[in-house]
Amino acid sequence: MLTEKQFQDINWQKNGNIMPVIIQHSISGEVLMMGYMNANALKATEQTGKVTFYSRSKQRLWTKGESSGNYLQVMSLYLDCDNDTLLILAYPLGPTCHNGMSSCFHPAISNFSFLYSLEKLLCQRKNLDPTNSYTARLYNSSTKRIAQKVGEEAIETAIAGIVQNQSELINEAADLVYHLLILLLDQQVDFSQVIAKLRERHLSDSP
Ligand code: AMP
Ligand code: ZN
Ligand code: ZN
Ligand code: ZN
Repeated sequence: MLTEKQFQDINWQKNGNIMPVIIQHSISGEVLMMGYMNANALKATEQTGKVTFYSRSKQRLWTKGESSGNYLQVMSLYLDCDNDTLLILAYPLGPTCHNGMSSCFHPAISNFSFLYSLEKLLCQRKNLDPTNSYTARLYNSSTKRIAQKVGEEAIETAIAGIVQNQSELINEAADLVYHLLILLLDQQVDFSQVIAKLRERHLSDSP
C-alpha cells in the first residue's frame, strides 16, 4: 500500500496522466509485464489487491486476468525516485502473457529466477511416470533415500572444495542444490522459505 503522502506526490502530469508500471514476480523477481495506470486504476489496484491497468487500446480500466483468471496479486508497491514510475511486486495466479508464457519478456530470465522455475518444474515431476524421470523415481523412493542423496552430494561438494577443483565444485554444488530442492519439495517446503530465513537472520544481525 502507498501512503496518502506517496499518492499525493505522484507526478501524473509527466506522462499525460498515466504512469508506466512494471510488474515483477514477488518471489522470483522475474519481470512479468509492463502497463499503464491512471489514478483510478491505481486506486482499484489498491482496493482489490489485483493489478488493474488503464488500457489505452480498450480505453478503460483493465484488471489483468479479468477474462483469463490469471490475476496478478499485489504484494507491494514502490514508486521510483522521482515519483513518475511504479514497480509492483505481484504473485501471478497463472501465466501473465496472453501467449501463455509466464512473462511478456520471455525468455528473459536471470539465473536466480531460473532457480524458481526449476523448483516449479521439479514440483510438477511429482505426478510424472517414474519410468521416464529420475526426479519422479526419487520422489517415489523414500524421504530417507532423498535425504541420503543430499548427504552424499554434500560430501562430494565438500571434497571438491578440499581438493580445490573449481569445476568439480560447481558440478557437485549443482547436484547438491538439485537434491536439496527435491528434499524440500518432498517435505512441502518452498525454497523461498529458506531464503526468507536467511533474510530474517540478516535483518536481526545487522546493527
Ligand atoms: P486477461 O486480462 O488475462 O483476462 O486478458 C484479457 C485480454 O487482455 C487478452 O485477450 C489480451 O488481449 C489482453 N492481454 C492479456 N494479457 C496481456 C499482457 N500481458 N499484455 C498485453 N495484453 C494482454
Ligand atoms: Zn522516474
Ligand atoms: Zn505478453
Ligand atoms: Zn554429485
